[in-house]
Amino acid sequence: MQLVRQKEQKALHGRRCTAGSRGRAGVALSALLVAALGTACGTSADSGGTPAPPKGGKSAEADAGTAGGAAGAAPADRAERLKARLAAAKKWKLDKPPLEAPPAPKPKPEISTRDGFEVEGHEDLPPVFTAIPTEDKVVFLTFDDGAEKDPEFLKMMKELKIPYTAFLSDYLVRDNYAYFKEMQAAGVTLNNHSLNHRYLPALSYDKQRAEICGQQDAIQRNFGKRPTAFRPPYGNYNEDTLRAAKSCGIKTVPLWSAEAFPNRMDYREWDRDLHPGDIILTHFRGREDWGSSMPELVRHVMKTITDKGYAVARLEDYL
Ligand SMILES: [Zn+2]
Repeated sequence: MQLVRQKEQKALHGRRCTAGSRGRAGVALSALLVAALGTACGTSADSGGTPAPPKGGKSAEADAGTAGGAAGAAPADRAERLKARLAAAKKWKLDKPPLEAPPAPKPKPEISTRDGFEVEGHEDLPPVFTAIPTEDKVVFLTFDDGAEKDPEFLKMMKELKIPYTAFLSDYLVRDNYAYFKEMQAAGVTLNNHSLNHRYLPALSYDKQRAEICGQQDAIQRNFGKRPTAFRPPYGNYNEDTLRAAKSCGIKTVPLWSAEAFPNRMDYREWDRDLHPGDIILTHFRGREDWGSSMPELVRHVMKTITDKGYAVARLEDYL
């Protein structure tokens, strides 16, 4: 497979940062607060998580609103939100608060299969990609499998307002659906990672279909919603995989361009760096698996992301 990053990404419809959005809020803030607004525009569409407490009869959620709504937020409200973010960062022992993502792009980017990742007849099948074409300085966090169910992780992500997406395998999830229901209630999209995490290219079309469509049914049955995104276990797939996935409602197949571990990041690209729109893979794993808790993992991956000047955006806003 060709692993050289496509220099020219097609269809850069991603919304740009607007000049001035940072200065407006900066006026009343200390140098520290201004610095914390960061480089991801600071136009704070608070995607995901719990909104800040209501202030003056008008909730911070109403200010942040849907994508772009925050642009009209009063500087005082933005300062309040920033203070809350700094407090959350301190509580969860992050060196710096996460940068806020710019508003969701309108229209959404046009997603196509990465060069070298096509199968026979791919034009009629769901696109397979490792990054989202955008110029926004954002990356996307995805958590796979579902083995570790750490309540602290749910709390941490909610309080820090870090959006993420889950790709679940039922054999690991079924002993505690309630945990993932709570995740879903916090705004996280639960996607398909197959029933039993098999190496799919070794299976017949029918068996692959049972693995993928069976997980569609399991998620619909337990969480009330049918996924539209599927990630094959280990990132391995063939034409049958994509045909089977399409047949049960899958629209996109997001892979990843970087993989986060508790103490390092593995990069797919030759430059060993993050790029706008990169999808980051990591896992629901805890101390038994890799000697670190999920909050420790999040601290490490967020340090890398924030130090490089990226905000974490919600993948579904771009799909
Ligand atoms: Zn997996």
